[in-house]
Amino acid sequence: MPDGVEAFSTLRCTDLPEQPYEGFNACHYTGDSPDHVSACRINLCKKLGIPGHNLIIPRQTHSANITIVDRTPFPAQSLDDTDALVTALPDVALCINTADCVPIVLADTQAGIIAAVHSGWRGTVARIAARTVETMCSLGADPSRIHAAMGPSICPACFEVGPEVAEIFNRSFPGTPTVISSGVSKPHVDLPAAISATLTECGLPPGNISTPAACSFHTPHQFFSARRLGIASGRTLTVIINRR
Ligand SMILES: [Zn+2]
Repeated sequence: MPDGVEAFSTLRCTDLPEQPYEGFNACHYTGDSPDHVSACRINLCKKLGIPGHNLIIPRQTHSANITIVDRTPFPAQSLDDTDALVTALPDVALCINTADCVPIVLADTQAGIIAAVHSGWRGTVARIAARTVETMCSLGADPSRIHAAMGPSICPACFEVGPEVAEIFNRSFPGTPTVISSGVSKPHVDLPAAISATLTECGLPPGNISTPAACSFHTPHQFFSARRLGIASGRTLTVIINRR
């Protein structure tokens, strides 16, 4: 990310990766104890040096809904059914929870606009990343200046799908090879390739887009994986905050 913007994904750092909630988990709606979630959030706010109400964590539903955070405290009910966040406010941490889906952070530092996006296969097909860029631009961002980074998520070698999902990707991304079907018994989907294509379609320079550095399924000590643990498990938190 460019100067002035911090972005990162949390690590579990656990020796018990088969325990579904072991390690850092700030997700409040996938079955972890409220005490554990609260302790993790307090710890994170302390590290970031922000008050609790500046930590913005939506209740994600695999929708393509985007919420603009224009003040804090921000009403909790406005964060329900939301899969992307945009803000022009400094020192507000936009957060996305994932366990195999792709978290994306975006920033136009000149305009002072940042965003965080949850892009699973449904959100990717719905082009939630492009809709988020449009929302950023409605606040003054310019696609040519936006940088985007994808966080830890399931890699194409691990992301097996049914033929109907493969077909949806072939139809939705006709110009981009997003489905791998040779040498595998079931098709695999490359979500980062589809997201990169979406972002370049809406005007981001390809050099401004970085793809995930780690696979959530391959790295159980550090990242939660719903394919490995089931959906009743913790989530990796991806955070972006503008310090200016
Ligand atoms: Zn993998």
